[in-house]
Amino acid sequence: MALVTMKYEMSKAEKGRYAVPAFNFFTLDNLIGIAQGAANKKSPVIAMASVGAMKIMGEHTTVRMCEGVASDFGIDMILHLDHCTDYDMICRAVDNGFTSVMIDASKLSYEENVELTARVVEYASKYGVSVEAELGHVGGKEDDIVVSEREALFTVPEDALRFVNDTGVDALAVAVGTVHGFYKSEPKLDFPRIEKIHELLPHMPLVLHGGTGVPDDDFRKAIAGGVRKINIGTELKVHGVFDVSKQGYAQPGDDPRSVSKLVIAKCASIVEEKIDVMGSANKAG
Ligand SMILES: [Zn+2]
Repeated sequence: MALVTMKYEMSKAEKGRYAVPAFNFFTLDNLIGIAQGAANKKSPVIAMASVGAMKIMGEHTTVRMCEGVASDFGIDMILHLDHCTDYDMICRAVDNGFTSVMIDASKLSYEENVELTARVVEYASKYGVSVEAELGHVGGKEDDIVVSEREALFTVPEDALRFVNDTGVDALAVAVGTVHGFYKSEPKLDFPRIEKIHELLPHMPLVLHGGTGVPDDDFRKAIAGGVRKINIGTELKVHGVFDVSKQGYAQPGDDPRSVSKLVIAKCASIVEEKIDVMGSANKAG
């Protein structure tokens, strides 16, 4: 009933061949929904704060909120800082009680990525905090590029092996065809690439970003190939929070507490669906 590190859950997931779901949260209701869903399914869960969300909520509040929610639901939770490019901010997150961090230096050169990631690993590991890094680049709305250009940014398996040895990370985000946000057309995942990376790095948990809109069967194939953490952000943001709040605040005088209940219930139901697909139900503890 506390915040735990990612490393332990990842090694369990590797043995059990399932993935641990990771959800972004932006508000307390959103976070409670995530905890509720995980508790109902007895699943391990990763709650992720983006840099933007953490700035709004505040570093201390983010950590205390997660501790409180984990305690109220009697669950272990991993608190993860998502996509941070700033070394100092990562150190502050570690100091304040985050149990996992992502250093995203994927836009830098290989050498710069290694240098910055290794520095983060050195700092975080002193406190037992897990580190995820990204090699290759998972795009999104911010980089609207054509598919052939995107494929040029896919993770090269041999580079992944070298990168993990050079940095000592605990989890590796790979670029294999997913993107952040909603998909304009059905995503095409490069499963042979996932399998090749997993073959070279059999004990390294692979992370799939951009999980919103990926068909369930693709999730299952990716997990069979070695993916151990799957990130879902947009689906909760849009369907879990925005749509529900819009309905809930339809009339003047609508009660914010009712809206909170709706958001919690909707987020929990999305979380439970994903847990079933990822095979992580009953794997908590
Ligand atoms: Zn991401």
